[in-house]
Amino acid sequence: PPSKLPAVGTTIFTVMSRLAAEHGAINLSQGFPDFAPPTRLPELVVHHMAAGANQYAPMAGAASLREAIAQKVATLYGAAYDVEGGITVTAGATQAIYTAIAAFVRPGDEVIVFAPVYDSYVPAIELNGGHPVFATLRHPDYRPDWDEVAALITPKTRMIVINTPHNPSGAVWEAADLAALERLTRETGIIVVADEVYEHMVYDGRRHESVMRHPGLRQRSIAVSSFGKTYHITGWKIAYCLAPRELMAEFRKAHQYVVFAVNHPMQLALADFMREQPRFATDLAGFYQAKRDFFRRELEGSRFVALSCRGTYFQLARYDGISDMPDTEFARWLTVEHGVAAIPISVFSPSGEDHRIVRFCFAKHEETLAAAGARLRTVG
Ligand code: PMP
Ligand code: GLN
Repeated sequence: PPSKLPAVGTTIFTVMSRLAAEHGAINLSQGFPDFAPPTRLPELVVHHMAAGANQYAPMAGAASLREAIAQKVATLYGAAYDVEGGITVTAGATQAIYTAIAAFVRPGDEVIVFAPVYDSYVPAIELNGGHPVFATLRHPDYRPDWDEVAALITPKTRMIVINTPHNPSGAVWEAADLAALERLTRETGIIVVADEVYEHMVYDGRRHESVMRHPGLRQRSIAVSSFGKTYHITGWKIAYCLAPRELMAEFRKAHQYVVFAVNHPMQLALADFMREQPRFATDLAGFYQAKRDFFRRELEGSRFVALSCRGTYFQLARYDGISDMPDTEFARWLTVEHGVAAIPISVFSPSGEDHRIVRFCFAKHEETLAAAGARLRTVG
């Protein structure tokens, strides 16, 4: 039968992690920490399993976890969400984003995304019959151009998917960006899906501009975060989203038939942990800023040129001083010949726009980053 996604191959994260494993390379490609979560977290999971939380969680998520999330966003963003009707726990941010798209996008609808674009958005739009419309984040700053976005909005625009801090660029939107988005979507039926999985990784004293801080936007937005990023547990695949009651009611119509509910003991463990250690999340910026700075120092003395990184755990680097290979080819070569795996970023743009840049993940022990640095300094 004809494919529903004819242009889609295997995700670059699988491709590069597999190549890294095959060649024993240091894997700075797919984004995940090489260190453990706080030991208290698995202890709490085991505790809740032993205590009997082994059957289905409530469809929307465990009440204690939704309460902890509501309290967190009230404290951090001054945003009041209804614990009953405004918060849903999901199987990763990937599922939250997929479900939001499935719940709202109808065949023929247009969805604006910003390229370079995280790789799960466009297939989700297409599987649901929508048409992706690409706004540009222009190299080297990866700033949005709000005049361009204004020109892309049509009566068919159903949704805009945003991502700040931004993967892969490490760019972070400012209050003025959120204000522009608010202005453009005011008095439209456009729904905003805000991928804020890196909300706690914003550096140099800047603050994360969540849609939740901006009441005009909040009322039309589904905000998505991920426990995977915040607690070093990407393998647990657990996340959540927040929305006004009416939007969340539609989201849950789809959610209940996509997964129904999410891993129960982990939800209870996360609820306890959020209460016990509320600062863990907010301390993350300092923790990762130190890693960013460490890795950038490692790149000094190499022929890679680090671009600015204001957020996320990704560092972009130009390699045009080393090679003129296309970035996909260069990333393979770097993995196979020099033992460091990275992500080529042209794969995140529909045009395949290639500025000879690769992405390194610095969510790693300093020893890992130092070992990678030593190899990278010999390249070229
Ligand atoms: N959005 C972005 C921008 C991401 O970087 C990631 C994880 N790499 C996700 C969504 C998916 O998060 P999760 O692992 O919770 O599904
Ligand atoms: N989001 C992670 C990254 O950007 C990977 C997640 C995945 O492998 N799907 O590297």
